[in-house]
This record gives sequence, structure tokens and C-alpha cells, in this order.
Amino acid sequence: MNTPIKKTIILSLLIFFFLPTVQIEAQKKPKNIVFMIGDGMGLAHVYAAMVNNGNKLELERCKNIGFSKTFSANNFTTDSGAGGTALACGVKTKNGMIGMNADSIPAESILELAEKNNLATGMVAACAITHATPASFIAHQVSRNMYEEIAADFLKTDIDVFIGGGRKNFEVRADGRNLSNELKTKNYQIAYNLDEVLTAKNGKLAGLLSENHSPAMPERGDMLPESTMKAIDLLDNNKKGFFLMVEGSQIDWASHDNNADLLVKEVLDFDKTVGKVLDYAKKHGNTLVIITADHETGGLTLPKGNIKEKQIKANFSTKDHSGILVPIYSYGPGSEKFQGFMDNTSLKVKMETLLNLKK
Ligand code: MG
Ligand code: ZN
Repeated sequence: MNTPIKKTIILSLLIFFFLPTVQIEAQKKPKNIVFMIGDGMGLAHVYAAMVNNGNKLELERCKNIGFSKTFSANNFTTDSGAGGTALACGVKTKNGMIGMNADSIPAESILELAEKNNLATGMVAACAITHATPASFIAHQVSRNMYEEIAADFLKTDIDVFIGGGRKNFEVRADGRNLSNELKTKNYQIAYNLDEVLTAKNGKLAGLLSENHSPAMPERGDMLPESTMKAIDLLDNNKKGFFLMVEGSQIDWASHDNNADLLVKEVLDFDKTVGKVLDYAKKHGNTLVIITADHETGGLTLPKGNIKEKQIKANFSTKDHSGILVPIYSYGPGSEKFQGFMDNTSLKVKMETLLNLKK
């Protein structure tokens, strides 16, 4: 056989066998989703942490990148209530509202929808679990400040694992209820510190590790990465899959304080958690990991820096949030759906489609 014909035959065979595999790979759907929110984490925050970390981050392992438009129903600049609600429930709402549309009508969250479809569900946050971002995934209240009402909303769901602070909102309440006791009657194990979280057995787990918020880095230690991996360990016993929300909560607070050193530490703690989750996703191949922010905080820019010395000069333009687009990084089956520019309300719709969730 002459060489050009041989080449054509080999090429045809390669296309015949290889192309369908590529297509199947591209259409593969995830069994599990880990949705990770760096509160206030804009692109400059990511780069500040990257430079400080020797010009690299775990986040760089994500090959699919997009941008999310974060404006709320009544403001160019969203707060974490409206931002969290857009991500969790797929609706624009007014700043300060939790899990409701702008007309105060409750909107179902991706976590609630996953629960209804018999997936295991969980949340881990580096602040009170009743705070705006995690609250948006489980509660329906007109104000983010209604912490006790938000805590009570946890009892109306079947969430399998939640770990964060906010113990007082469950146990020291104006209505006299002790929600931890009520959780125990619903077969939850209650953990009051990280050791108790890590030794929890199979089954439901409520981790209330601080009276109010968990401490800032470095005092918080490995609370976020270790709690996150424990949550995955408990949730992935469910054969139908799981949905887990993880929040790097205090990137936002360091940025409100215009504290560049602390925001870098908080982003690196979040990034460490991202690395562990990506290791899990790589090993199992069935988990979509989405990492994004609800908005940018601080209007941060980095006019100067030094890669070798791992130094940045941070300029903040506000003590509040800014309205700029925030990046979306994703990894695993379905991650190609999160490329390009999109509204913050479209992530929930994409996730429910990928998980085949029925309303
Ligand atoms: Mg938050
Ligand atoms: Zn904020």
C-alpha cells in the first residue's frame, strides 16, 4: 500500500474511534456540584494572592473561565444578600433580601431543588452559617439581618450537613426555642468545634463552631478546608449525588477594611480549600466545581508590585462593594457551560440543568 493511502486510512480510523469519545466527554454530566463563593473576590484579589503565593494558585487548575454580571434588582452594586440570592435562586432581588425575588415572593434555591430531587446537600462557611451568603441558599426572608428567622428556616429543610458559626442564632433566641435540640430530634449530630466535626459519623451533621462568626485568618486555622472535605466525605455516601456550597466569607470583610494583608490570607485559605476540592474532583471525575464571587469588594487595583519579592501595592477605591464583573472558574464535567459572559442569575439554571433536577 502506498503511503498517502495508508495515511488516509489511519486518519479515518482515528477519527472514527476518537471523535465519538470526544463528543461523549464534552456532553458528560456531573453527578455532584461543589459551588464555591469567595465573597468579594474580584480578579485583583485573586492576583494579589497569586503574587504573594509565588505567582501561582490552585485556582489556575480551572481551564474554563467566564464572567458574571452582578448588579441587583435595585442597585448597580449588589450586596451579599441579593448577590447570594441571584447565585442560589436564579432571581434578581433588592439589596438585603434573602431567597426572595424583588416582590418578596420566595424563590427556590439550587440547594432546595437538589434536596427535593434526593441529592445530599450541604453548606460550609467561614462565618456564621446564618449570614447573607449561606442564608441565600436555604432561607427566605425580607432582610439579611433576621438571623433568628434564617436559623429557623434551616429546620424547614432536609439539608444533610452544615458547618460554620452562628450558634447563638440557634440556641439563644428571642422565641426561646433551642434549635440545636430540635435538630437532634431530627437525627442531626451537633458539633461545637472542628475536632467534633472531623470525628462525626455517617449521617446528618450541624457544625456550629462559633457563637457568632469564625475568627479571621490565621486564627481560624484549617477550619474551612477541613470542614469542606469532611462535608464531602459525608455527602458522597448518597448514590444520587450531592450539592455543596462553600464560602470563603471573610475575603469580603478584609476588603471592606481595605486590609490587603488580611485579604491575601483569606484568599489563600479559600484557594487551599479549592485545591482540596479539585483533588477530589480529579480523582472521582464526576464532580463539577464552580468557583466565583457574589461581587467585588474594595474596588481593588494593583498599580505596582514585585513578583520576585512577592509584593503588591494595593489601592482601594471604596470601603464598600463595587459593581464590576466577577470571574467564574470551573472544573470537571459541565464546566464548559460556564465560559463567557453571563448574568449571575444564569448559574443556578445551568446547574439545575446539568444535574437534571425536576421542579
Ligand atoms: Mg458572604
Ligand atoms: Zn461585603
